Parts: sequence; C-alpha cells; structure tokens
Amino acid sequence: MDSVARRDFMKSVAGAAALAATGETARAAAAPVAEGGGAVAGGPVFFSTWAFARAANERAAEVFARGGNMLDAVEKGINVIEDDPKITSVGYGGLPNADGVVELDAGIMDGTRHRAASICSLHSIKNPISVARLALEHTTETTYAGAGAFQMALKFGFQPQQLLTPESLRQWQEWRANPNRNTFWVTPENHDTIGMLATDGRGHLVSGCSTSGMAFKIPGRVADSPLVGCGIYADDNAGAATATGNGDLMTNYCTSVTIVHYMARGMSPQEACEELLRWMVRTDSKNRASASAVIAMDPHGRIGAACMNPQFPLQYALWRGGKSEVRNAVVLFP
Ligand code: ASP
Repeated sequence: MDSVARRDFMKSVAGAAALAATGETARAAAAPVAEGGGAVAGGPVFFSTWAFARAANERAAEVFARGGNMLDAVEKGINVIEDDPKITSVGYGGLPNADGVVELDAGIMDGTRHRAASICSLHSIKNPISVARLALEHTTETTYAGAGAFQMALKFGFQPQQLLTPESLRQWQEWRANPNRNTFWVTPENHDTIGMLATDGRGHLVSGCSTSGMAFKIPGRVADSPLVGCGIYADDNAGAATATGNGDLMTNYCTSVTIVHYMARGMSPQEACEELLRWMVRTDSKNRASASAVIAMDPHGRIGAACMNPQFPLQYALWRGGKSEVRNAVVLFP
C-alpha cells in the first residue's frame, strides 16, 4: 500500500470505533459484494465469526494500517480475543477440559504461499495463534500437538501461565460437582471459536482460527478449528474459509477446503457456504439439527456466511472501508 493510500486507510480505521453494531438478517446482507453492490475496489477486509470478534477485526485493521502484513493483522487481531478473560471459549479464561486443564487449539494459513501451521492441545500458553504463526515462519512442518507444541512455544520465548480464571474454574467445578452432568460429546455446548478471514484488497488471503474447544472436552480432543482444510483454509487463487460449531461433526466434512473448492469452481462465497451445509444435510439428514456455521471470502473481498438452523444462529463481525459492524448470517433451514 502506498503512503497516501495508507494515510487514507488509517483515517478510516480511526472512524471505525464510532460505528454501532447492526443486526440485519438477509441473504443480501450476508453476501454483499460491497456497500452499494459494486465490486470491492481494493482495500482490506477483516471478517470473523461471532460478535465479540468486532474488536479483533478493529485491531487487525490497525495493525495493517501501521504497516503490518496480513498474517500480522490476523494474528494480532485474534490475540485480542485470546487475551480477554471474559471470553470463555478462546485463550486465557477459556473453559478447560474434563480434567480442569485449559487446552488450546489454533491455526493460521497464508493463501499466497499455500502454507499453514497448526497448534493443538497447547496448555499454559495463552496465545496459540502466535505460536502457530511462528511455527509457520520458522519451521517447515505443519501440525504440532501437546507436549511438543508446548516445548516449541517455550523455545519461541512464550511464558507459561495459569490459564484458568476464577470464573472458568468456578464453571468447571460446578460442572464436575453435578452428578447428572452432560459430557460434551453427548450434548455439545459452549461454542464460540474465533475464525478470521482477511484480505489486503489485492487478492491476498489469510485464514486464522483459535479456540479452547468444547467446554469440558475429553483431554486431548482436537476438532476442526486448528486443522488445515477444516477450521482454516486460504488460497489466493480461489478464496478462504473458516468454521465454528460442532467441530467433531464438521471435521468429517473438511468444511473450509470444501467451501474454497466450491468457490474455485465458480460459486460465490455465499453460495459455497450454503452448498457445504446443504451437502451435510444431503448426506445425513440429522445434520440439519447440528450446530454448524461457516464463513467464506473470495480474493475480491466478497463474503458469505451461513448457519444451519436458528438453534445455532451465527453472528459475524465485518470490517470494511473503515466500517466495523456485526451482522447475522443466513440461516439455511429457518
Ligand atoms: N469448532 C470448535 C470445536 O469444536 C468449537 C466452536 O467453534 O465453538 O472445538
């Protein structure tokens, strides 16, 4: 970005904070090409799952405006959510596994290099997306888990810390004290991964995702969020996607890569998101009742967002042209 464009962009970043959230629900709203309907004329776009990600998009936009690249922007944007103890589904303060240990998963993919790195079942380090980012830059392998991922984080200079907060500890103790408690694999509860898609407005795409996974999960359980093709996928030639919801189900549909391949064959991001969910139902009608939601973006910054049913409604956060807002995704089976 040249200096004039960057200055203009920084002005729009400053204006973004003042914008209020909206909550419109419409297929047209979920898949705008641009405000006004035309093709997106350059300019970065930051697009994330869930309303809380508005702050993440705004941080990502600031990082990019100050000269960071798209990977910096996505990493630092996601850090905002990982660092927030009030968000009990990502990073510090995320709800622990059945043994009371917080295990974090994250992944990031660079659509230009076609290269991703994933960190799974990481304990005691609050920013798995940053560990994944460093793994992407400094190693040639793709997926690291458990003790090895922790050792790698230490080598990168991360400081271990207790990730349980008084609130997450309280919720885990309450869950454990309940003799009739639901184990997460019977009744999936407590979703809310952050998945972020970003473009620089020049066709470069990045997909990132970070989560503490299902509350009170079986120790060692890893689902879609950190895995290439499931929770993350980006290819500058076709598009990027991410997912949230029942990751044990959605992993089996390789949601993100499937959506990107639909886009490679000519579908819009919105059509591709809906087709993926429809395919899940076509192959197993029970999936209509599932907690499944996906978002996608093409190299022009056009977006799509869809969830399966009103029992798991997806809100998404979108930053574009200095405007930062929250919208409702299309509900495929209302
Ligand atoms: N997909 C995540 C998982 O299953 C949870 C979520 O998106 O809320 O770990």
